[in-house]
Amino acid sequence: MADRRLLMIPGPIEFEPDVLAAMGERTRSHLDPAFVEQFGSALERSRKVFLASSDSQPFVIAGSGTLAMDMAIANLVSEGDAALCVDTGYFSARMADILGRWGARVQSVGGRLGEAPSTDEIVAAIKAHRPKLVTVTHVDTSTGVRTDVESIARIAREHEALVVVDGVCSVGGEVLRQEAWGVDVALTASQKALGTPPGLAVLVASPRAMARAKSKKVASVYLDFAQWLPVMEAYEARKPFYFATPAVNLVAALDVSLGKLLAEGMEARFARHQQMADAFRAAWRAMELKLLPREGLAANTLSAVYYPEGVDLTFPARVQGVVLAGGLHPEARTKYFRVGHMGAVSPNDVVATVSAIERALGRRGEGVSAAHASLLAK
Ligand SMILES: *Cc1c(COP(=O)(O)O)cnc(C)c1O
Repeated sequence: MADRRLLMIPGPIEFEPDVLAAMGERTRSHLDPAFVEQFGSALERSRKVFLASSDSQPFVIAGSGTLAMDMAIANLVSEGDAALCVDTGYFSARMADILGRWGARVQSVGGRLGEAPSTDEIVAAIKAHRPKLVTVTHVDTSTGVRTDVESIARIAREHEALVVVDGVCSVGGEVLRQEAWGVDVALTASQKALGTPPGLAVLVASPRAMARAKSKKVASVYLDFAQWLPVMEAYEARKPFYFATPAVNLVAALDVSLGKLLAEGMEARFARHQQMADAFRAAWRAMELKLLPREGLAANTLSAVYYPEGVDLTFPARVQGVVLAGGLHPEARTKYFRVGHMGAVSPNDVVATVSAIERALGRRGEGVSAAHASLLAK
């Protein structure tokens, strides 16, 4: 029988048939007018999905989310610059590593499992360390903790620091308003809530970030904004331009997927992610399963859930018909599992996933019932 397991991990996610069909089309020349249109359109749509200003600069580059992180930092940090990393887990730690490799003097704030540092702690850290750059992980996929990006961006601006948001597990699912919140670089990867197979890094940079980058010499050719800026500008003006071959089929698929996001509408999409997450949270409560994030910090794009007594890390493999993820944070890797709920996730997916988990635990349906009630209450 065909593999009909539902992919409910925090990326890659389930992709829509028309997005996958775009992947399978005949590969065009990167200079073909039809591709020029797709790339130009994908760039314009990226700006809209990020709710970024019309003078912000989108970049769509072949690579994963980690490349997007590396690229943002490479273009904004000079040797010896102070940088503050708001640490909510594994991916924040990766950002701190990248900052250090590009020569920043890195200070981290937070770092407690399942927690996010308070605004007071962040202000104190900024005053003590005087960073030129603050990085924050919107949703740390290792912990399911969501940070208050709006407040952190405001605090950073008040102290004249640029703000880089790792939105790999948020853009297209969690509320992120790049322009209104004053975020300088927001970045993500195609395979998470953008709903496109893995392989594209997507960044949107504010005019302030572009100005900072302009004054910098980047010690990498592929990561240098200056190499890619003429490419992005040309395609948006519907002209071809070669620097390095774009991932033609992936860009075509991204354009289809972003078109679907915008057709749903970003506000409707945020609301749907909230509803699906609420239904999952109702189920976890009814099943008396404890979440890894502290109350009030749980993301809408995934759940990180502790195994109940007597259940170990072999559990996700025993859940039938649904693919789940194990733990990732080094402090608790073997103690919890993760369920991704981003992208086209529907009420049916929620109920199917909760039901599969309950059956594997030998439960009788309290979770499904609670998820139902939550979905009906909307
Ligand atoms: C997935 C993820 C990354 C890394 O993305 P890759 O595409 O795996 O390189 C970085 N940050 C966050 C928050 C993520 O969820």
